[in-house]
Amino acid sequence: MNVTTMTSKPALLQPRRLIGLALLAALIAPGLPQAHAKAAGSLNLYTARHYSSDDALYEKFTKATGIKVNVVSAGDEALLQRIKSEGAASPGDVLLLADASRLFAAEQDGLFQATPSKTLENAIPANLRSGNLWFGLTTRARVLVIDPARVKPESVKTYSNLASPALKGLVCTRTAAHPYMISLIASQAAHNGADKAEAWAKGVVANLARKPKGGDTDQIKAVASGECGVAVSNSYYYARLMRSTKPEDKAVVAKTKLVWPDQAGRGAHINVSGGGTLKNAPNKDNARKFLEFLASKETQADFANGNNEWPVVAGVKTDNPALASLGEFKRDPQAIADFAKQIRTAQQIADKTGWK
Ligand code: FE
Repeated sequence: MNVTTMTSKPALLQPRRLIGLALLAALIAPGLPQAHAKAAGSLNLYTARHYSSDDALYEKFTKATGIKVNVVSAGDEALLQRIKSEGAASPGDVLLLADASRLFAAEQDGLFQATPSKTLENAIPANLRSGNLWFGLTTRARVLVIDPARVKPESVKTYSNLASPALKGLVCTRTAAHPYMISLIASQAAHNGADKAEAWAKGVVANLARKPKGGDTDQIKAVASGECGVAVSNSYYYARLMRSTKPEDKAVVAKTKLVWPDQAGRGAHINVSGGGTLKNAPNKDNARKFLEFLASKETQADFANGNNEWPVVAGVKTDNPALASLGEFKRDPQAIADFAKQIRTAQQIADKTGWK
């Protein structure tokens, strides 16, 4: 497996940075060697998933199929720019991204082509993919993490509660310019309409304990340290802390509690990481085989065990003590592609309410 890493940071689409990023991409991640572009036994993977456990999966794929995986790993924005600047000559076969808002942005930019596959259609529920253009491959929930000494679980039963005046000065989130927050706002807009979503966002901003900074894990740690009473985080960050052997991580978990939102209503917001075949893929067949491999029961279990996400495929047995101890919860069945359509609205709401 060849791995090229581009070192620019992932971020949402900010036009001002685009030229700089295209340049950066060209400078620090030169194209895959031409010999790799089209070869019967190779696959060129562009991935913005940032989880080290994925590498073992690619090696398994090579062992099973003989198809060599050349990996270009970078932040989503740099990858999207690279694919666009490579145009029809792009050697990229498959693009993997974390979060539906990023997948939708790539779809809007016309970067994917359909992957007709009965295997994928049968394995992945329709609400977790965009037709056969891109496919959710893992699921994660947007959850709340509380300091039970300061915030009672009853007062954060729903995402709506985050805007309640009772939580003034207690709420912590990463910036709403980030895809994970944009997707949550988009989901609110899809369910309740843009006006209600904006009013909600305004209420959450009014409750912030501090200016948004850091990633999801930083929010959880800030709950443990007493800076925040309740944080918003992707589920796998909390599960990762639960599985950590570091005393400081164990202390964070001991001090906090995960709360599944909207359990009496529509269920917790579910997002995916996923991918599809790139429009100009030189190795289309290998791309399909690779996506089918990622949707196989074995790989689905590996995803769950390695990055603490849940399979998209039904009936997969996982072996993950953190996920097992978190137990079952109610999931919002909302189609990913439906809330992804509200992303522009969500970005406007984030801007308008100054959630950054
Ligand atoms: Fe993440």
